[in-house]
Amino acid sequence: MKIRTQTGTILHVEKSPLTQILLDAGLCTIVQDAAPKPLQPTKWDAGIVQETGEPYLIATCANGACASSHRTHRALGPTAAKAIFWHCGRGETAPAEVVKKFESLRAGAAED
Ligand SMILES: [Zn+2]
Repeated sequence: MKIRTQTGTILHVEKSPLTQILLDAGLCTIVQDAAPKPLQPTKWDAGIVQETGEPYLIATCANGACASSHRTHRALGPTAAKAIFWHCGRGETAPAEVVKKFESLRAGAAED
């Protein structure tokens, strides 16, 4: 944990009975780390490839340091809802409304 002494010095210390005595006596205060910056939401969409007429599902990370993008095609089929977009150390699946859009595009493309 981090503590700030009365002189303003910030120290990294182990949580211990001694630290607690210093805190209880008001000789130092706990320094809270700033909350981690929330991840930018991933942009999801579904569309049709102009040249082939195939539906696709696309995920693009809005985090500039990652900027991963992944586009899947019709072959994904009914497993679209389970397709995992791995980036930023985590896996995400498409939001329900985007899966619904993809499925309706697939259904439309199948009729052609
Ligand atoms: Zn990312």
